[in-house]
Amino acid sequence: MRTAKRIDRLPPYLFAEMDRKIKAAQDKGVDVISFGIGDPDLPTPPHVVDALCSAAADPSTHRYPSYTGMPEFRRAIANWYRTRFGVDLDPDTQIQPLVGTKEGIFHLPVAFVDPGDVALIPDPGYPVYETGTLLAGGEPVAMPLLSENDFKPDLGAIPADVVRRARVMWLNYPSNPTAACVDEAFFADAVRYCNEHDILLCHDAAYSEITFDDYVAPSALQVDGAMDCAVEFGSLSKTYNMTGWRIGWVAGATRAIEAIKRLKTNIDSGIFDAVQRAGIAALEGPQDHLVATIERYRHRRDLLCDALKSMDVVVEPPRGSIYVWTPVPERHTSESFATALLEKAGVVAIPGTGYGPSGEGFVRFSLTVPDERLEEGVERLRTVFADS
Ligand SMILES: *Cc1c(COP(=O)(O)O)cnc(C)c1O
Repeated sequence: MRTAKRIDRLPPYLFAEMDRKIKAAQDKGVDVISFGIGDPDLPTPPHVVDALCSAAADPSTHRYPSYTGMPEFRRAIANWYRTRFGVDLDPDTQIQPLVGTKEGIFHLPVAFVDPGDVALIPDPGYPVYETGTLLAGGEPVAMPLLSENDFKPDLGAIPADVVRRARVMWLNYPSNPTAACVDEAFFADAVRYCNEHDILLCHDAAYSEITFDDYVAPSALQVDGAMDCAVEFGSLSKTYNMTGWRIGWVAGATRAIEAIKRLKTNIDSGIFDAVQRAGIAALEGPQDHLVATIERYRHRRDLLCDALKSMDVVVEPPRGSIYVWTPVPERHTSESFATALLEKAGVVAIPGTGYGPSGEGFVRFSLTVPDERLEEGVERLRTVFADS
């Protein structure tokens, strides 16, 4: 059997590879503590689960859902945007529900990137920006995110010939994997740049609600000119501990949403209506679970960062996301340090290079580890940092 060339160009998904290494260690009897994948360990709020259960018992949800999503769900998203960011969106033309944000991120280049076109992607960044571009036949060009620039891209450094071919620019703040956060002024610069160069700005806001210490994440859509050139991806996965449910959305520039809608009618047949009703319950219901979730991550963040500082590791407690982006000891690479962590301590962290070459020198710890395991994991780190 011959597979297509585009499959050969596609790297195995980072976490699929990581799962294999963890399993190999477990098979050898190692009690592995994983700070690997960012998959919330806390359960979905009960009122959201209840909404799903009653909706699933209602036969009107059993048929094909609408391609464009339930109007009530789109309205709930529009209301949420108005309350949260002061942004007005037309639920009929400026919002498209997605089968999880990853689905939309992966497919977007099919609608906007022709072979030979460039997609500007953050390096390090969520791997799907690159793989979606590759499968569409486009050329991903990395925008290095460096600690000296607070992990923001230097837009002025993008070469003119690259800008000319660029159709799409991906951004993601609070950032996975760097945990960096930005202010509104940064989005204003990015929107001006993308309008000037006729680039679709795609902001992935998966962590917009997981922020700490009075920091409130802005939306890229709230700056002047954004509705002409930008879309923003939203997800219920991290905000409401709903990674398993597969529900998210993309919102913004009407022409972009129109193209995404046309594409998606040809790909999937929407999201189970019962899941959308649960999504409405999440957005419109009580938010006390979110407050508790943030508090839990903040506690874990402080535990890990205080411990790292006591080991002379230079880390700033991040203001958002569920990650701590940690420099590795000098004599190590990202990869060799992640291997040392697994072999010497049974601790999993993701090597920064898994997110792009500029991730060299870092590993990513995810805070989605239950508290007692996190405490034990942190103790185990001491021996490895001390040896290095
Ligand atoms: C987790 C994550 C997503 C995926 O969200 P889903 O809605 O679960 O598909 C998207 N982008 C980033 C950066 C993420 O970390």
